[in-house]
Amino acid sequence: MTKKWVYLSRSASEELAQTLGHEPDLAEMKVIFGGKGAGLANMTGTKLPVPPAFTITTEACVEYMQSGEFPEGMWEQTVEALKDIEAQTGKKFGDPANPLLVSVRSGARQSMPGMMDTVLNLGLNDETRATLAELTGNEWFSYDAYRRFITMFSDIVMGYPREHFEQKLEELKKREGVRTDTEVSLEGMKGLVEEYKAMYKARFGEDFPTDPYKQLELAIKAVFDSWNGARAVAYREHQGIPHDWGTAVNVQTMVFGNMGNDSATGVAFSRDPATGKHEYLYGEFLSNAQGEDVVAGIRTPQRITLADSRNWAESQGVSEKDRATLYPSLEETMPEMYHQFLDIVDTLEHYYRDMQDMEFTIERGKLWMLQTRTGKRTAAAAVRIAVDLANEGMIDKEEAIMRVDPTYVDLLLRPSFDPQVEKKLIAKGLNASPGAAVGVAVFDAARAQELAGEGKNIILVRPETAPDDVPGMLVSKGVLTQKGGATSHAAVVARGNNLPCVAGCEEISVDVARRQFAAGNVVIKEGDIISIDGFNGEVYTGSVPMIEAEYEKQTALLTLLEWADEIRTLGVRTNADLPQDAQRAVAFGAEGIGLCRTEHMFFDERARDAVVRMIMAGDDKEKRHAALDEMLPFQEQDFEGVFEAMDGKPVIMRLIDPPMHEFLPPREELIEKVATLKCTDPDSPELAEKEKMLKVVTAQWEVNPMMGLRGCRAGIMYQGLTEMQTRAYFQAACRCAKRGIDVIPEVMIPLVGHVNELKMEREKLERVAQQVMEEEGIEIEYMFGTMIEVPRAALTAGEIAEYAQFFSFGTNDLTQMTFGYSRDDAEGKFLLKYVEGFDTGEVDANGEPVLTPILEANPFQTLDQAGVGRLVQMCVEEGKAAKPELEIGICGEHGGDPDSIDFCHRVGLDYVSCSPYRVPVARLAAAQATIRHSK
Ligand code: ADP
Ligand code: MG
Ligand code: MG
Repeated sequence: MTKKWVYLSRSASEELAQTLGHEPDLAEMKVIFGGKGAGLANMTGTKLPVPPAFTITTEACVEYMQSGEFPEGMWEQTVEALKDIEAQTGKKFGDPANPLLVSVRSGARQSMPGMMDTVLNLGLNDETRATLAELTGNEWFSYDAYRRFITMFSDIVMGYPREHFEQKLEELKKREGVRTDTEVSLEGMKGLVEEYKAMYKARFGEDFPTDPYKQLELAIKAVFDSWNGARAVAYREHQGIPHDWGTAVNVQTMVFGNMGNDSATGVAFSRDPATGKHEYLYGEFLSNAQGEDVVAGIRTPQRITLADSRNWAESQGVSEKDRATLYPSLEETMPEMYHQFLDIVDTLEHYYRDMQDMEFTIERGKLWMLQTRTGKRTAAAAVRIAVDLANEGMIDKEEAIMRVDPTYVDLLLRPSFDPQVEKKLIAKGLNASPGAAVGVAVFDAARAQELAGEGKNIILVRPETAPDDVPGMLVSKGVLTQKGGATSHAAVVARGNNLPCVAGCEEISVDVARRQFAAGNVVIKEGDIISIDGFNGEVYTGSVPMIEAEYEKQTALLTLLEWADEIRTLGVRTNADLPQDAQRAVAFGAEGIGLCRTEHMFFDERARDAVVRMIMAGDDKEKRHAALDEMLPFQEQDFEGVFEAMDGKPVIMRLIDPPMHEFLPPREELIEKVATLKCTDPDSPELAEKEKMLKVVTAQWEVNPMMGLRGCRAGIMYQGLTEMQTRAYFQAACRCAKRGIDVIPEVMIPLVGHVNELKMEREKLERVAQQVMEEEGIEIEYMFGTMIEVPRAALTAGEIAEYAQFFSFGTNDLTQMTFGYSRDDAEGKFLLKYVEGFDTGEVDANGEPVLTPILEANPFQTLDQAGVGRLVQMCVEEGKAAKPELEIGICGEHGGDPDSIDFCHRVGLDYVSCSPYRVPVARLAAAQATIRHSK
């Protein structure tokens, strides 16, 4: 028996069950039928009105790509399936008396909008066209359908670009003095079809194919081939979709939205893909139009619901009277269709338990569903929809949490334009994808890529976008288009990639050739800075300042994070050095400070002089102590602020970490200064001082400062330093406690490599802490611990744990020292290339070079689980074996990275600590880790 390559939509899931030996789930159906085919099968199975169809599997495409021919039996099965459709419709493929017309539609496992090809109206020739005219009583329509078919077939199947055909249509419209396609005369359409056929013959030396079976065969091959088209390949590269999946082909009975004013075609989202709101359906339609017209932006599409239509009119400055006559909603013009559609949308949402993106066509008062898929959405919409679906009982809280990519949370905390600032508004379009963007105007994708490569921020400005523009869109900060609606290509791609986008901005006129656009009397040329606001659709000249996102007002996000807190077992702390950072982190949900870097306080201008004097003092004990005494109040003041902000939450203070020379002027600068002063003012006291400083700086100079005198080594070598910091910290803690603040102090020693370092520092610290508490007359509990950031410390965790109550992994240094990569130099010198990969002569299926990387990811961004992670894991095991109550966290950059957080959860850390803005991301990622590993 030959393999099954073709499945009828009406029985696809049962038949696949037979092939597989079990009921297929949605994912399995998508693998074989592609997303579109699976959707058609499911909708048909749910008894929704779907034009009869069948699907040729992705497996057939894979076979075809290897051999260049249809796999054995596929064509016979296709013809067989056509018979079934003929029986269902009572029409016959190629029958001049009652012709069946079909569409041949691509559809991969994962949706690749607009990346591959679809041919509509297939089966038309002179004879069937004439019958179509007769049966419908609409000759104009028959020619319209025919000219569309010739255009699509020539373009997609034969590679004769559609622009040539569209240009003829434009010329015809000009000749007839009409604006829209539907106004073209019957004679005009007739003539156009003849012209098209002549063009075809002139180009290919033969007549346009009249045999519907030949048309079908070629169209199926063309759709298979479109999987390897340049657009599709580029899109897969960017989205990380494997090249060997192949596309399915769906052959479907045509229904016509272009049969007159009782016909229409449209697209809709069950919830607003920009905000997630679902007060009404979000979608557009055109009456008397066929499929692609809506997305192509040929006419201004109308809204589906009345409420949405009114909002749209208001935002576009269209009067209610004009709206109701020129752009009425579907709800008004075809109320029956509208209500039927609402029911279908509801059914589909419940079936898929997610927001749906749908295509439909109304043919002479009958509604047909043509596609449904889970809709792409912005970060804000993703959060809102997940929370709403859980509240509506369609999914549970855990699923809601799993549905939101943690990086989306980061996006929601992004800034928007400052409403207080006066702006120069030059135009207003549709708010197609939210977010604020500032950049230079660029008018084509290639130029955008070039300038982005030079590090420029770009706003891509186009009349409208097509799939070829995608690479340029992806390197831009925002997109502005003159034409196209809220479901136009630009809008969909922008939302899917979280790019701010203003679409359909008819107030501008884009002149690509001259690289400029005009808005009223303002002309913006390539390179001029503009700002676009995807929240409200406004376009401004110049660079508009931004303000921070209002976290507290994002109620859906707050709810989702509350749910995350109920579920996660991993704690989330923050790395904050100053009181205001600590406050912000608490607002974001931080449960403590995992790392308070005290050196930031040393950089404080007020203390700076004293810091320099302390270093310069050398062996002069008196001078050194005097300088330290001066520094103390500044440190203490900041600590008090931090304790106040963290009332009731632990605060880990880390003793000074960086090399001391960082607090002194750079050596080169001093050399220059000394040389200048020697010439200009040789007797000045300034020269004497600079010379002395140069001497100290020279003495301190190290070949490799990151492995030099820093961390606990500095604390040990600079006598009095650890004591001063400890005193400042405990004075602050005691004084805050006396004011009724609940303080939980924890002190952390950096860069320990040998247990004796820890022992020595700990003794000093305990002594000072005790002393301060006696002076202040109050006892407070505190913890003492160490960072684990030198591999030797991780390897001797058992010994170290005896002297520490907590460990905190400093994975930045630990990564640096485990790999032996200098953090400061590696990225610029070789690390990025290591990740990007090298050309070793390997090529892919298309002969394109494949880069071979050395590292899968940058280990400073994503924790290297095999190496650094192994050290972490060993250290946790041995540390806890030596001291079961040992508390363990991470305070490196990785503490805010979702993959690394998952790792931290698995190895049993107690908490992660990250920068304030990453705290919400970490809360969600920690909950996801809990859910993922509890199953
Ligand atoms: P894409 O994946 O690019 O959206 P589709 O296969 O969905 O391509 O088809 C393009 C357009 O043609 C869509 O608007 C779709 O609704 C319409 N279309 C496809 N098949 C049919 C059909 N059998 N009858 C009417 N319209 C169709
Ligand atoms: Mg589609
Ligand atoms: Mg460190």
